[in-house]
Order: sequence, then structure tokens, then C-alpha cells
Amino acid sequence: MSAAHANRSIDASPHGLLRLYFRILLSAGAAVFLLHGIVGFITGFGDRYGPVLIGMDAILLLLGILGHELTAHAQTLKRKPPAGIMLTLVGIYLILCATETGGLASPFFMLVLVTCVFGALILSGVGATLLTAFVGAMHAGTAWLLPNGILHNGWEGMQSAVSAGRHMPLSEVTAIAMHSAFLFLGSWIAHRLSSDFRTKVVTLEDHATRDPLTQLPNRRGFMQKMRQEIARAERYAWPISMLMIDLDHFKMINDEHGHAFGDAVLGQAAQVLRDSVGPVDHLARVGGEEFAVAAVAADPQHGAELASRIVRRFRQHPWGDMKPNLRVTCSVGVAALNTSRSGASPDASLSRMLDEADRALYEVKESGRDNFALSASTEDLAAAMRTPSG
Ligand code: GH3
Ligand code: MG
Ligand code: MG
Repeated sequence: MSAAHANRSIDASPHGLLRLYFRILLSAGAAVFLLHGIVGFITGFGDRYGPVLIGMDAILLLLGILGHELTAHAQTLKRKPPAGIMLTLVGIYLILCATETGGLASPFFMLVLVTCVFGALILSGVGATLLTAFVGAMHAGTAWLLPNGILHNGWEGMQSAVSAGRHMPLSEVTAIAMHSAFLFLGSWIAHRLSSDFRTKVVTLEDHATRDPLTQLPNRRGFMQKMRQEIARAERYAWPISMLMIDLDHFKMINDEHGHAFGDAVLGQAAQVLRDSVGPVDHLARVGGEEFAVAAVAADPQHGAELASRIVRRFRQHPWGDMKPNLRVTCSVGVAALNTSRSGASPDASLSRMLDEADRALYEVKESGRDNFALSASTEDLAAAMRTPSG
């Protein structure tokens, strides 16, 4: 993906969506603040466009700035800002603004809906339902208790409204019910869409990067992991040893016992490898009967020890339990990542390592199989480590 495209695309992670929400709030806050300011200036800040409305817009703008800054620096904060609480508080404030500026017909109601929809995209099903229920209840409560324009009419206005008893017309009750249902529907649809989408992305990612036969990462998954691992190793100057493992005469096993049995042998081979490598090492099935191991923080010496262990484990494995007289061996080529070769990209380092490990593997095949070998430059590196200069 190009950098320009990466900048344009939306970050659909919960954190990215929370940032987007506050960016929308910030833009909306700035726009209404500016608009009401201009109209207020022209009309002399009297009547509707007085300080109360401008003040509410200013608070909305401040909430937008605050949320935007908090989410922008969330990575460096000790505790992540609680998305549910932030969205609920903003939602309630927006409901108050809506009640104050025309009740059910207020344009602020659009932002209430945006808040509920983003809540449904970001939060769990329970969190999103709670947010919508809370905001919906506030909507009904403020419409019932607060006559429109309470801040304009002041405390006396509210007292007189309450003492006079509030008889809400049926049309208003219906409208509130419709609005609340609308909020629930909007957030339910958003939640269904986002959870379906997330499940699909996770499933597709898994299918694209995992081998179904052995449940190991496939070549694509391995390459993805290795790009990060090599970048990290070069940054901290850690060694990495790459092992390419190929089963010997595997075609003969297939030919003699059938393809299905060959599959079962591949499953066993994967298990032998799993039992041989360390917990931080990366193991993958990179081809038909080819596996790769990237041993992290392992210098050539450790890489050679691991290769020797793998060859030995294959020899010692009770293959006869699967079929009498069955014997499965493997050949291993080892290459080391040379972190001192600065300037090379992680991709270039990775393909050089794989090439070298492949060449070493080929040499083992040429010289009789069931063994391991280090690539020429890895041998040199190992020799240099054994005889420290100076
Ligand atoms: P060498 O020792 O030189 O590696 O010999 P080989 O027979 O192992 O190598 P070759 O590359 O000639 O054959 C590899 C075989 O692996 C051929 C192919 O049918 C088999 N193979 C590849 N993928 C699978 C698979 O998923 N299942 C099964 N059963 N066999 C597979
Ligand atoms: Mg092969
Ligand atoms: Mg083979």
C-alpha cells in the first residue's frame, strides 16, 4: 500500500474510529461556533444567537479538541481513555444542547445519532446498548422536565414550567419514542455491520496466513512476521538464524503409501518441529514438504545447535508407529542475519537469508541428506565469533 493511500484510508480499529469521531465532533463544533458567531455578530447577539448558544457551541468545540488530543496521544498514556464513558458524556451533553435549541427539531440531534452509531462501531454489544439506552432516557427526561429554552428563560422559567405541570402533547411523546427507536436501530445496524466485518477480516487474515494441514503459518504469514522480526533485530542488533528444513525423499513416501498418508506424515513432521523449537522462534510451513524456522536472538552457533537437534529428533522419532519400517529424515540449511550490514531493507535482508539457507540446504541434499549445513557466510561469521579479534 502506498503512503498516500495509507494516509487517505480510514483506520477501522476501535481506537482509529474513536479518533475519527472526535475529529467529526471537532469539525462540527468549529463550524457551528463560527456560523452562530457570524449570525450573532450581524444580529447584535440578541435573542436566539445570544451568549448561551455561542457558549454551548464553544463547549462542544472544547469537547472535540479535548477528545481529539486524548485519542491522539492515547499510545503514550498509561491508561487508555475509556471510550464508553467519553461517548456517553458527550451524548448526554448533545441531548442537552438539542433540548435547548429547538427540542426535537434541533440539528444537534444529528450529532446524537452520530455518537450512538460510533458507539456501536467502537464498543461491545452491551456497551453500545447501554450508551443508546442512557442517551435515549436522557432525551425523554430532558424533553419532559426541561421546557425548551431553559437557559434562556433562566431558573424562573423552569420553576414556572415545573409548577404549572408539564403536559406533554401526544405528538411530542410519539416523536421521542420514534427518535429513541431511531437511535437504537441506527446503533444496532452499525454494530451488526462492524462485528460481521471484524469477524470476516479476522477469518480471512487467518485463512490467508495459516496452512490448514499443519495449522502452522504459511509462507505469507511467515514473511509478514519476519519483516517485523528483522526490523526489530536490526534495531536492537539481535542475531537471527534462519533454518530451511526439507523432508528427504518425500515423494517416495507419497508414492509408496499414498497422498493421504503423506499428509499425515507432514502433520507429524510439524509436531516434531514444534517440539524442537523455542517459544519465541517462528516456525512455518513454507512449501509442500518444506518448513522454515527463524530462531530469534540465536547466533550461528545456536542456529547450528538447533539444526542438529532437529535432524536428530527426526531420526529418533517413532515413525514406525505410523507404518512399520517407516523412516522419515530431513535436511536443514542454516543462514544467519548479519545485523552489521546496515542499509539493507528488512525485505532485502530476508530474501538474502532465505536464499543462503536454501543454498546450504541444497548442499546437504547433494552430500547425502539427513544432515545440516551452514551457508558459507554463516560459517565465516561463526568462525569470526570463535576467534575474537584484538
Ligand atoms: P528430496 O529429498 O530431494 O527433497 O526429495 P523429495 O522427494 O522430498 O523432493 P521433491 O521436491 O521431488 O518432492 C516433494 C514431494 O512433496 C512432491 C509432492 O507430491 C509432495 N508434496 C508436496 N506437498 C504435499 C502435500 O501437501 N501433501 C502430500 N502428501 N505431499 C505433498
Ligand atoms: Mg522440497
Ligand atoms: Mg524433499
